Amino acid sequence: MNRPTISSNFPERATASTHDALLIIDMQKDFLSGGALAVPYGVEVLPVLNSFIAEFVEKGFPIFATRDWHPRNHCSFEAQGGPWPAHCVQGTSGAEFAPALHLPPTTIVISKPSAPNKETYSAFEGTDLEKQLRDLDVRRLFVGGLATEYCVFHTVKDALRRGFAVQLLVDAIRPIKTEDGAKAESEMIRLGATPVLSDVEEPEEVEA
Ligand SMILES: [Zn+2]
Repeated sequence: MNRPTISSNFPERATASTHDALLIIDMQKDFLSGGALAVPYGVEVLPVLNSFIAEFVEKGFPIFATRDWHPRNHCSFEAQGGPWPAHCVQGTSGAEFAPALHLPPTTIVISKPSAPNKETYSAFEGTDLEKQLRDLDVRRLFVGGLATEYCVFHTVKDALRRGFAVQLLVDAIRPIKTEDGAKAESEMIRLGATPVLSDVEEPEEVEA
């Protein structure tokens, strides 16, 4: 598997301001190296997300973290005829957020729906994410996490459709498949997401 290149035509550097929220997608142990459904190079986004977390904490802006929260018999699992190995089962260690992600205690956790017979990639579907964002008068989302062509893609698409502006943190996302990720990234930008970079240097080896 080729290392995905961080795309983008000279994206701007992201800076948060009033009405912004950080939306971190599915940074759970099972999606990182050693996990049940590890996203290649997923650990590389940790220092980038941590730098955004630090900025949002310092400025007092809201931070949301979404998670896959599956029942044991979820339809997306291979044992039930689905495409994925069992992952992020409620209450298991694999469903926990990566310990190296410095989420503050004020983080608002959004668990995706746990019905066994339905797959949900978008964090807006079947959750109160939109209501919570509106209540906080959030108008723009900084989005990063895993995986680019699944939960990041569907969440960004739904955010744009609901009228939120999106800063897509292109160095804080990684795909399961490089090509699919590149396609999803272009599509998010075509739909109106703005690709932006962090100030973090090219990541070195990071432990999950
Ligand atoms: Zn899942």
